[in-house]
Formats: sequence, C-alpha cells, structure tokens
Amino acid sequence: MRLRVLGCSGGIGGDRQTTSLLLDDAVLIDAGSGVTRLTLDELRRIRHVFITHSHLDHILALPLLMDSVGTGASPLVVHAIPEVIAALRQHLFNWMLWPDFEKVPTIKAPFLHFAELAVGEVVDLDGGKITAIPAHHGRPAVGYLLQGKTGSLLFSGDTASHDALWQAANACTDLRYLLVECSFCNARRAVAEAAYHYYPEALLQDMARLKPGVEVWISHLKPGGEAVIMTELAAQSLPCGLPRALEPDQNFMV
Ligand SMILES: [Zn+2]
Ligand SMILES: [Zn+2]
Repeated sequence: MRLRVLGCSGGIGGDRQTTSLLLDDAVLIDAGSGVTRLTLDELRRIRHVFITHSHLDHILALPLLMDSVGTGASPLVVHAIPEVIAALRQHLFNWMLWPDFEKVPTIKAPFLHFAELAVGEVVDLDGGKITAIPAHHGRPAVGYLLQGKTGSLLFSGDTASHDALWQAANACTDLRYLLVECSFCNARRAVAEAAYHYYPEALLQDMARLKPGVEVWISHLKPGGEAVIMTELAAQSLPCGLPRALEPDQNFMV
C-alpha cells in the first residue's frame, strides 16, 4: 500500500493544509483541507474514508467531497467509531449545514453510507489491513494502524499522551513508520493540555519508550510554530532517532 500525505498541518496558510492521507487510490484517512489538492478524477476514485474524529480540521472537505463523488453507482463509505458518526449526523449532514446524503438521492440508494468501527477491529483493505487504535483527545477519537505486505505504519491522529499508542507501536513487530502529532511548542503547554494535544516535552518522554528501528514523523504542527516545535523535539537523543516533520506529498510504502 502507498500512503500519500495530502495535508498534515494543524492549520492553513500558504501551502499548509489540514490532515488528510490518501491510501492507494480509493481510501482516505481523514478529510481535512488536504483533500482539495486532488484532481476531480482522483476524487472520484475515492470509495472509503476512515475518520479519526469529528473535529473540523479532519472532516471539513467531507461535505464537498460528496458533491464530487456522489454520482457513482455505490455510496461513499465513511468509517468511524459510533460517537463520531453520531456527531457527523447531528452537526453536519443535517440539512442545516449540508444535505443528509444518507437519504439523497434516495434512502435505498444513497450517496453516503456510514460504517461503524470498533477500536481494535481489523478492516481488510485491498493489499492490507487497517485497525483503529485508541487516542486521548478529550472527544471520542482514534488513530489508525496500517498493515501492508512490507510492514506497518501507525498514525496517532490527534492525541495527548497515552499509553495505548506506545503499547500498540511496540507490540507491532513490523512497524516501520510512526506518524505522531505534536501541535504546540513547550511554551504553549497550557493550550496543548487544554486541547488534548502533544507538546515536545510530553512527546519526548513517550518517544523514549519507542523501540529502535521505527522512523518517527511529526504532524499537526500549528502554523508558525513549526521551527520551534521541531527544534524542541531535537533537544534529546532517543533510541528511535531524530523525528522529522511530515511534508505534503510525502509517500510511505507498506
Ligand atoms: Zn482534534
Ligand atoms: Zn486536528
């Protein structure tokens, strides 16, 4: 499987786009503003979207995506934990912000289908598997583990420090890549804690537990704070090596 980074910033401005990852041609992980970089043909090949949580920066392209892909014979399948699906139904696809595409054009043949996921449930994909892993973000949220033929990649989603992420990483025998968020610099620790995000001191403490041999890539850096956060993350040498900032259009093969 090939994972292409469409957006990996904690905000917008210039080239910055919010979280979205394209898995091969047909699967998205999160639907932040990074989705807008795809061509219409690329958009129309998307059949599945796995959502980490309902925050706007991870779903904002989803309603507009419906208008680009909602013409085919089969619905777009949006996979998420039940609390996230409930939030999307109640607050987004409610006719007020956007049409209820579970009923458009008809209830029998809608453009949108929600598929409930449980944490730990393995979903088969073309060429691999995807599993929701726990996250700690104040609201119901998950990360995702991708297991391909040549190795695995773990994406934290939005999260503050929690054991389950590092247990999942260390338990994965063929883990090659960890994509983990670090939204704020140490000086903004109070904001990070209030919003359930990582900041360098907390992430370095957790990364020290990660086994060697895993490449660590940092996502969700808040606009303007990128250089300071990455400098603070370089302050300590770790068994896993120096983390690097994730970039749009970066590709990972697993
Ligand atoms: Zn969030
Ligand atoms: Zn976010």
